[in-house]
Amino acid sequence: MTKQAVQFSKKRRTTYRFQKVKLCKKCNRYSVLKDEYCPACGSLFIGVETLGNSLSKRRLFTEVSWIILFVSIGVFFAPTRHTLYYSLIVGLIFCLTYIVLTFVFMKSEYFHELKKLLRVDLKKIKTGIWFDSDLAKEDVKAERLADGYDKLREIGDFIKSDAMKQSQVMVLNRIALRSDMELELEGLIPTSYDKHFVKYALEVLKINRTLMTKKCIVYFIRYRDAIVVDFGIDSLLSVACMTLRMKLYILEFSEFIEEYLDYFPKERVLRLYSIIYSNPDIEWGSLAEKTKRVVAMKYYYDPDFKPFMERKQVLTN
Ligand SMILES: [Zn+2]
Repeated sequence: MTKQAVQFSKKRRTTYRFQKVKLCKKCNRYSVLKDEYCPACGSLFIGVETLGNSLSKRRLFTEVSWIILFVSIGVFFAPTRHTLYYSLIVGLIFCLTYIVLTFVFMKSEYFHELKKLLRVDLKKIKTGIWFDSDLAKEDVKAERLADGYDKLREIGDFIKSDAMKQSQVMVLNRIALRSDMELELEGLIPTSYDKHFVKYALEVLKINRTLMTKKCIVYFIRYRDAIVVDFGIDSLLSVACMTLRMKLYILEFSEFIEEYLDYFPKERVLRLYSIIYSNPDIEWGSLAEKTKRVVAMKYYYDPDFKPFMERKQVLTN
């Protein structure tokens, strides 16, 4: 199948996830997508932060109104002029103190209202996200893959299920991936073996090795047997080669590297050899011995390995 060439828009980044939640007051529906206007009715979405702000202000207004009402009753029913002044002054002081204190604690009051709103409307927010998810599916069905993926990526911040990850991976597998794209890998790792994910991972790692993280290597090692059956031994060999990206990974996955070391291309063996050579204080275990053996067998006369050979103390024994 020919892959679609697309352009991704930048992912929206917020300090907190809830900042992406917004409401269409007309449809009474929440959304987590980037759209500014509701696709159903065209009204402007209102961010959940704005909602929280207006709720805390409304609460302040209501409470101040009650205080004023009580003060007015006190003034109205005051038996003497003296009591009237007394109620008026006390009422005003109380009202002003209340307003000042509320402004001081406005931020915590705002978060309290926001938390309450999110808790009360949780079911409605979930329904809204499912509606968003239907919109994404429609895009994918209509071959608007970039739009579909963009929506799924936003929804993926809220729904971390394997099904949601797989939906994203399935779309990504139909797109021609490029190094200038903002791609992710770790966040899409499922909890069980998924052929589509491995296919995507192998493809994305060809264009961006930095996406190979510890979690990703662990996934490849855990499902190595299934991966060899579906993608051949070369796929695992390429992953083993990529673990040389960081010293920490080499130490952590030394057994895995050792297993495939005999099949490593020269450039990778040279990298491993130079890392081990430059860090004689690190306890490399049997990996150092094995590397030494491979170099002795295959690259003894290779000029690229000469600088290390000549210094005799190549590896710690
Ligand atoms: Zn609407």
